[in-house]
This record gives sequence, structure tokens and C-alpha cells, in this order.
Amino acid sequence: MASYFDEHNCQPLATGQTPDHFLHIARLLLHGGYWQDLQMEFSQLFGFGEKPPPPASQEFVDNLSSVTMERKGEKCPVCLKEWSIGDEAKELPCQHKFHPTCILPWLQKTNSCPLCRHELPTDDEDYEEYRKQKKRAKERDADLEVLHNSMFS
Ligand SMILES: [Zn+2]
Ligand SMILES: [Zn+2]
Repeated sequence: MASYFDEHNCQPLATGQTPDHFLHIARLLLHGGYWQDLQMEFSQLFGFGEKPPPPASQEFVDNLSSVTMERKGEKCPVCLKEWSIGDEAKELPCQHKFHPTCILPWLQKTNSCPLCRHELPTDDEDYEEYRKQKKRAKERDADLEVLHNSMFS
């Protein structure tokens, strides 16, 4: 089966690149009604198989900090409308800012920043467990590498 990237004739992101597909999906979501069709594409993008990532934790969303925009010129990454001075924005821990109407529907669907994929807490125990194991596996690999280097260098 062809992957998302083959079909769309583009490359997976290198570190530091902007994940435009992600934003693209966020935009479609904003325009409503596309979520069911997009789930498949979405999970391929994440590499989670059939299961899309869970929504961000309700508590986290309720406590998201609101900021007032004080500069013009920049744009909301989802809808690409320029901010006006005095606009209210929601700021994620990665310091990316979005209109509440742009980011809130997104966070009800998934748990990462649509711009940089910074992961946010969820209420999904299975997913949190999976995430812990993934982190542990990574640490184990790092330990092994240190061990390997100390033996063979
Ligand atoms: Zn917006
Ligand atoms: Zn971000």
C-alpha cells in the first residue's frame, strides 16, 4: 500500500521543517465535516496504525492560557488570518498561538500542536501508558549506546 507521502508526492519532514500536512488537516477540520474522512490519513501521518491519537486532556484545555495579541503582522497558523491588536489567542506550551476557534476544535480531536507537534497531556490512560513505554524504550536505547561506546571506543 502506498504511504501518505508517496501518494502526495512529497517527503516526510526533516527536523525543524514545518509540518504543513498537519496544518492542512487542522484547516480542513476547521471548515467542518471532514474529520471522518481524514481519520485514516491522519493516523497514517502519525504512524499509529488505525488508531488516531486521543484528544488533549479536558483539564489541560480548560487551563490553557489566553493571551492578548499586542503586535500585528503575524498570522494564526491555522486560518492564516493576520492578528489584530487586542485579539484573544490561546497559547500552547510550545508558545504557538491560535484563535480559540481554531485550536479548540483541534484539541478535541488530538493532542498535539498543529504547528510543531508538541505533545500535550491526554485523559487517555492507554495512550499515556504507550507514551511512557515509548519514552522508556528510548532511554534504554540511549543507555545501550552509552554502554556500547564505553566498551568499543
Ligand atoms: Zn485562526
Ligand atoms: Zn507548537
